[in-house]
Amino acid sequence: MNEPGSPGRERIAALFVELAAIPSPSLNERRVADRIIGFLEDLGLVVHEDDTALAIGGDTGNLRCRVQGSGGFSVVTLGAHMDTVVPADDIEPVLRDGVFSNARDAILGADNKTAVTAILLATEAMVRSGEPHPTFDLVFTVAEELGVLGARHLPRELLVSPMAAVFDSAGPVGGITVKAPSQQAIRAAFHGVAAHAGLEPERGRSAIVGAARAIAAMNLGRLDDETTANVGMIQGGVAQNIVPDSCVVRAECRSHDEAKLARVAAEMVDCLQRGAAEAGVDVDIDMVHEYRAFALGSRTAVVRLAKAAVTELGIQPRLVASGGGSDANVFNDRGLPTVNFDCGMSHVHTANEHVSLDSLERLTQLVQAFVLLAPEYSRVVS
Ligand SMILES: [Zn+2]
Repeated sequence: MNEPGSPGRERIAALFVELAAIPSPSLNERRVADRIIGFLEDLGLVVHEDDTALAIGGDTGNLRCRVQGSGGFSVVTLGAHMDTVVPADDIEPVLRDGVFSNARDAILGADNKTAVTAILLATEAMVRSGEPHPTFDLVFTVAEELGVLGARHLPRELLVSPMAAVFDSAGPVGGITVKAPSQQAIRAAFHGVAAHAGLEPERGRSAIVGAARAIAAMNLGRLDDETTANVGMIQGGVAQNIVPDSCVVRAECRSHDEAKLARVAAEMVDCLQRGAAEAGVDVDIDMVHEYRAFALGSRTAVVRLAKAAVTELGIQPRLVASGGGSDANVFNDRGLPTVNFDCGMSHVHTANEHVSLDSLERLTQLVQAFVLLAPEYSRVVS
C-alpha cells in the first residue's frame, strides 16, 4: 500500500477549528453540511443529500459521496455524524499545549467533528496524491445524537460496500469497538386530575405521585455486566398549589443481549403501570427500539482490516465492548459489518470536551490506512 500521507498539522488544526466553530445541534446541521459539500466539490467529487430532513423535521439530510478510485466497486464506507449535543451556540475553539477545547462554557463538538476533519483531509490526501487508491464511500449523517435518527432514515441502497467504519468513539486512537448494546427508549405520560392543593386536594389525582411510585419501584443503574437502565428526565406540574394532572417520564435501558433488554423493558413498563394504578391516574407509554446490539468476531474481515490499519500506524490495536450506541449499530443491523474507531476525543457531551492535535493527525492517517488496506480484506474484487 501507499504510505498514508499527512496533510500537515497546521492544515488539520485550521479545518478542525473551522468546523468546530460552526454550531450544528441535531436537526440544524445545514451550515456544517454545506461546508462539507463545498470541501468535497473542490476535490471534484459529487455529494448526494437524501430526503431525511423532511422525514425527521430537520434542515439537512444525510450526505453520501462516492470517491472513485482504481476499482469499480466501493471497498469500504466511512461514516461520521454532523450534529452535536447542546449547548452548541457559543463555541470558540482554542488550541493550548497541543489540545483543542472550547474557551466558552459549552461543548466543543469534537464529537464528531474530529472524525469529519480526519475523513475530509484523508480523502483529500488520497485524491490529490496522484497515487492509486481504491473506490470508497463517505457517509455523513444527521441527528445521530437523537437516537441515531439520521442513520435510521438512510436508504439501504446507499450502503453498497461490503464493510464500513464509523469514527465516533471516545478514547485514544487504536481502540476498535466491535460490540455495542441495544437500546430501548421509554416515554411515559401520566394523566391525573388537577385540583387546588389547599382547598380540595381530595378531588385531585396526582400524576407526579404516579410517576414517583413507578420510578421508586424500578431497578436502575448497572443491572449486570451487559445491561443498564436509567430514568433521565421527569417533567410535570405547573404550580406548587395545584395537584398536578400531568407528568412525563423519559427512561431507557440497554443490553448486549436482546432477551435481557426485552425483559428489563417489560419490567420498567410494569412499574409504570403499577405506579399509575396506585395513584389512580392513567399512563400512556411509548416504546422505541432505538438501535440493535452488534458483536463482530475478531476474525471478521472488517475487524482484521481495522486491526491492520491501526498496526500500520505503529499502535497496538485494542478491541473494545462499548456501553453506547452509534451509527455502527444501524449499519450492522442492515447487514453491513461496521466497526467504530476511537478518535481521541475525551469528556464528550460536556463543557470539558477536548481532543489533541496529535490524535487528529493520527486519526487522519488511520482513515487512509483503513481505505488503502481495504482491498486485501474486502470480499469484492476491485
Ligand atoms: Zn458522536
